[in-house]
Amino acid sequence: MYDAVVIGLGSMGSSALYHLAKAGFKVAGIEQFGLVHGKGSHSGQTRLIRKAYYESQDYIPLLNGAYRGWKEIERVSGRKLFTKSGIAYFGEKDHPIIKGVQAAATENNIELRACTDQEQAWFDLPSTFEAFTEVDAGYLRADEAIKSYAEAARSLGAVILLNESVQTLEQDGSAITIKTDKGTYQAKKVVITSGAYVSGLIPNAKLPLSVSRQLIGWVKAGASAPKYPDAMPAWIIADKNVPGIYYGFPKLNDEQSPKNGYFKFAHHTVAESIEPQQMDDFDREVEEAKLRSILEQYLPDLATQPIEITTCMYTNTPDEHFIIDFLPDSENNIVLATGFSGHGFKFVPVVGEILADLVTQGESSYDIGFLGVGRF
Ligand SMILES: Cc1cc2nc3c(=O)[nH]c(=O)nc-3n(C[C@H](O)[C@H](O)[C@H](O)COP(=O)(O)OP(=O)(O)OC[C@H]3O[C@@H](n4cnc5c(N)ncnc54)[C@H](O)[C@@H]3O)c2cc1C
Repeated sequence: MYDAVVIGLGSMGSSALYHLAKAGFKVAGIEQFGLVHGKGSHSGQTRLIRKAYYESQDYIPLLNGAYRGWKEIERVSGRKLFTKSGIAYFGEKDHPIIKGVQAAATENNIELRACTDQEQAWFDLPSTFEAFTEVDAGYLRADEAIKSYAEAARSLGAVILLNESVQTLEQDGSAITIKTDKGTYQAKKVVITSGAYVSGLIPNAKLPLSVSRQLIGWVKAGASAPKYPDAMPAWIIADKNVPGIYYGFPKLNDEQSPKNGYFKFAHHTVAESIEPQQMDDFDREVEEAKLRSILEQYLPDLATQPIEITTCMYTNTPDEHFIIDFLPDSENNIVLATGFSGHGFKFVPVVGEILADLVTQGESSYDIGFLGVGRF
């Protein structure tokens, strides 16, 4: 009998496992694939982190917790997970996202400054665009973060079961029986962090979620690259003609990675709904043309280069805000974290902390009322 079992050891589950082990719980985590894989929502090595949250300022206390948490796991693991590169924002003055970032920054004392010439050197931007940088923003190493949390959890006594898929959950009084393709376990509490696969695991919950296939472009600089080859900032472009944002990262410097030396970029907007199994089933030519058009419009020096494409999935709620709550009808014994709608990774430390608090104390000190499942 475990005190708690975490189902899904990706982004949120690895952090929850660590925080539960840290609280002294006898805990196990079950992951259907290996640790860090390309069939979920954490692939593609890097994730943006920023605090001037245009999506809703309700997230800002959570972001403060997340920033503290990233420092903690860097210290515990000895790995550098957060690079404070700043994020450059480009867009029309009256674009709701540009206005939202500026309002969140002003109201929460978050430092923005004008972009430098170097930061803008790669971009072909209309003269009417605002160009400013959020100084304390940057990017995270998603793969290294998940490994760090899993290792830290294991060193605190957590059991990690990989390549084992949870098939069913049955609640009977104070015990929950978890059946996998390899065995049966019992736990007093369960944390469900199974990402894009969650609806298959708890079909009766009828969660209003959709899964979308998101494409990531990778490109290397050609001979015509600008004069500051290593100065591409992390960036966000709010273009009024398309929903969401375009975004990208500085050149990946990681000799262990097949994408070493590549720039990563993508369009953040909810894409085509799929079943998780259809993740890699798309028309490469069509999608490459869409990705190339971003470069042609805004990063012409990269547009002539071959583009490699990898895939990832979002799990979307109707309002694109997360679900962090007890599963209805579970007598508060099953905690659910899902629907991260393409912007969850930066919150990984604080989500793990909140999930552990919900399990161990039945409540969180963070205001998570706006993320309740009852809003649907
Ligand atoms: C292309 C892309 C770009 C993104 N960019 C950003 C960004 O810049 N900034 C940001 O903050 N966020 C970003 N996100 C969002 C962020 O990555 C996700 O919100 C986050 O990874 C979701 O974490 P998760 O734990 O829900 O899912 P995952 O990390 O996928 O973890 C779920 C895990 O559960 C496992 N699982 C599922 N079912 C079972 C089962 N039955 N038994 C056992 N294991 C199971 C899965 O295999 C998986 O490992 C991006 C996402 C994508 C796809």
